[in-house]
Amino acid sequence: MAHLLIVEDDELLRDGLQTQLEQAGHTVATAQDGEIALSLLDEQRFDGVVLDIGLPKIDGMTLLTLIRKRLLALPVLLLTARDSVQDRIDGFNAGADDYLTKPFNQHELLARLTGMLRRSKLPAFGGSLEMAASQAKNLRVDANLPLAWIGDESLELTQREWALLSLLISNAGQVVSREDVLTAWQSTPLEGNSGVVASNALEVYVHRLRRKLSETDLVIRNVRGLGYLLESSSNT
Ligand code: CA
Repeated sequence: MAHLLIVEDDELLRDGLQTQLEQAGHTVATAQDGEIALSLLDEQRFDGVVLDIGLPKIDGMTLLTLIRKRLLALPVLLLTARDSVQDRIDGFNAGADDYLTKPFNQHELLARLTGMLRRSKLPAFGGSLEMAASQAKNLRVDANLPLAWIGDESLELTQREWALLSLLISNAGQVVSREDVLTAWQSTPLEGNSGVVASNALEVYVHRLRRKLSETDLVIRNVRGLGYLLESSSNT
């Protein structure tokens, strides 16, 4: 079950979508224009958005750009006019996760929405990252790009540091073993000339990442004999 926002000015379509998504077990809020959508996004925490492009007051594409500035990991499915390839390209460029052209089959909408929500919950993607990032207050992470920011400043991470951070974040509150990290690194491109990462090199990366996270309230704790644990210092 997810909490969804439908932004659509066509009343019939909006009500139909709401009924359908509620029948599928979701809770749904609706907005008939971009301004209402924006204030709902301020007030509530949504798991996903179904967004029409042609909207009164603030159009869908502008709204999408605003959403991406503030809620990086929020999944958005765009509803576009038929045959408007440009809308779709613009939509993806503005950060849409998926799209459907009108008129669409309601079963397809549900299937696409379910897929989008499932992807956003995968460890490497938005769900748990968002959770950990909200604990960290000023850390924001977008696993799709992949990029991270502390406040407004982007956090410079090497591929291995990124792999380490996303592994720790997606397992926040649980111990990640050294073997887990080394396995994750096997799928990242090599940095420098080092083909094989010695286990003791891991300490060096952890140390560097710790320093980079020093302005957040995330701490990487060593759990002797087991591995590493990411937690929020405000919880300890
Ligand atoms: Ca419309």
